[in-house]
Amino acid sequence: MKLKSVAAALAMCASFVAYGAAAETVGISMPTKSSARWISDGDSMVKEFQAAGYETDLQYAEDDIPNQLAQIENMITKGVDVLVIAAIDGTTLSNALENAAAADIKVIAYDRLIRDSGNVDYYATFDNFKVGVQQATSLVNGLKERFPDTKPWNVELFGGSPDDNNAFFFYDGAMSVLQPLIDDGSIVIGSGQTGMDKVGTLRWDGAVAQARMDNLLSANYTDKQVNGVLSPYDGLSIGILSSLKGVGYGSGDMKMPIVSGQDAEVQSVKSILAGEQYSTIFKDTRELAKVTVGMVDAVLKGSEPKINDTTTYNNGVKVVPSYLLEPVGVDATNWEQILIGSGYYTKDQIQ
Ligand code: BGC
Repeated sequence: MKLKSVAAALAMCASFVAYGAAAETVGISMPTKSSARWISDGDSMVKEFQAAGYETDLQYAEDDIPNQLAQIENMITKGVDVLVIAAIDGTTLSNALENAAAADIKVIAYDRLIRDSGNVDYYATFDNFKVGVQQATSLVNGLKERFPDTKPWNVELFGGSPDDNNAFFFYDGAMSVLQPLIDDGSIVIGSGQTGMDKVGTLRWDGAVAQARMDNLLSANYTDKQVNGVLSPYDGLSIGILSSLKGVGYGSGDMKMPIVSGQDAEVQSVKSILAGEQYSTIFKDTRELAKVTVGMVDAVLKGSEPKINDTTTYNNGVKVVPSYLLEPVGVDATNWEQILIGSGYYTKDQIQ
């Protein structure tokens, strides 16, 4: 008995030494700092968690899976009270999460679903299918507007990273809009490349997208022009646009194709204003942080978090109860109202 209480006291000391105070600690594991959105996510969460009286341990893994695993294992060893994880590869965390469960640490999947594990308690994200619907709807509207006399429209498709569950939702949402237009002949995929196995872009890497666009153009577009490109993320759109500009699109009689995006990153909003990228999707990371803090707070206090979806996100082991936020389409007509009006950016950051 005595030994046990000494051990318990020592363990408590260890966690006080690790975190310096008795406040509960939230371990936040983010994928990378290479994209501004994850920096905003991390910053907003630290701010909101601290305002709610929590300590935070925020780590970025620079898109390296072993690095993310080591960071999470380290948080478990240090004794965080809860984990919030945006996975790099949503299928690689099962063992780490078993350790978390053994230590009675609850786990929130943040933005990206963690797959193949029963030890995921809740999921805070956006309506990812709707993101794809909005991307494709904007692509089609742009095609009508910029290429009213061209039929069929030549389009190419890009998908996100195949190890990110979201990428399939974005793609499926987009195809729910595009497939009927492909079927009725309004849209032709010049390369014939469709399906996530052919159009996915590992690690959401803009350089990979740029190289693929270069190949698509040289293999399929020497005697015709491409009119639109479905891009699921601003970082890919930038690579795709570089490739297009490199062969003369956007000047002379080569109109810039309609290129979609996601995340409303500053560089892409500037590109939209310069008439290059056509649109993006705004996902207010401040709101996602608030939802997540609410979930953590409820979980630690033993009450039920607010959720609004109990059917969509089956991770292969269970349907993870989720809260889905609304994405918002942004283009040259509404960027100011949406991005500046909401206080997400100042006008100075964009212009
Ligand atoms: C996120 C997107 C982001 C992409 C690349 C996805 O999981 O939902 O917002 O564009 O990852 O970072």
